Amino acid sequence: MRLIIFGPPGAGKGTYASRLGHELGITVVSTGDIFRQEVRRNTNLGRKAAEFLSSGELVPDQIVTGILAKKIHADDAKHGFILDGYPRTIEQARALDKMVKIDAVIRLTVPERIIVERLSNRRVCKKCGAIFNLKYLKPKEPGVCDNCGGELFQRGDDLPQVIRERLKVYESQTQPLVEYYKDELPILNIKCSSARIPPEIIVREILRKLQKANLLV
Ligand code: ADP
Ligand code: ZN
Repeated sequence: MRLIIFGPPGAGKGTYASRLGHELGITVVSTGDIFRQEVRRNTNLGRKAAEFLSSGELVPDQIVTGILAKKIHADDAKHGFILDGYPRTIEQARALDKMVKIDAVIRLTVPERIIVERLSNRRVCKKCGAIFNLKYLKPKEPGVCDNCGGELFQRGDDLPQVIRERLKVYESQTQPLVEYYKDELPILNIKCSSARIPPEIIVREILRKLQKANLLV
């Protein structure tokens, strides 16, 4: 199964994708996670990507697409994958079309006030990448990851002015992809109308919709 999880920053893509990947036994490819890791390791790629990440802009298409191609042809993706954060532009979607056939798009819609609240309260584990929220998905012990005991931190792009820029970029460059896929692929619409809905509920709804679309065997 090859899925795209699509939605604005703060829609919960990463949170749901990792749980869903676990349920379905497929890997999650998150371009944002890949870039953050490269930045942390201060690799060549990381140095190229850093300024885009910290300003909330998109990393240029050629760079992203090259990396993605490698990931989806890797061994751990042979049973399928969920793409989180890719494609983000029409050009990326075209490049993806040439690489592989996607089965469906999971489209998350969230009111903007929830987005901002989620992003500004988000904390991420330094070690394993697990996502928490100071209001809605609290770690059991403050500042400590439930999964691995790692230290939690706030992403540099989860600050108000960068959040605004990311939302702008999403609206102008990524949102148009809905039109692009509308007639090509099943789009499973998932509405998150409250930040209080536990992730399990959303994941269950996604699974239900995959089943209804005959995508689960
Ligand atoms: P979110 O969806 O919460 O904004 P991500 O973790 O998906 O965050 O992405 C963080 C940043 O990584 C983006 O703001 C952008 O700079 C870069 N990035 C991730 N995926 C892509 C992509 N497909 N194309 C271009 N830039 C990307
Ligand atoms: Zn952790």
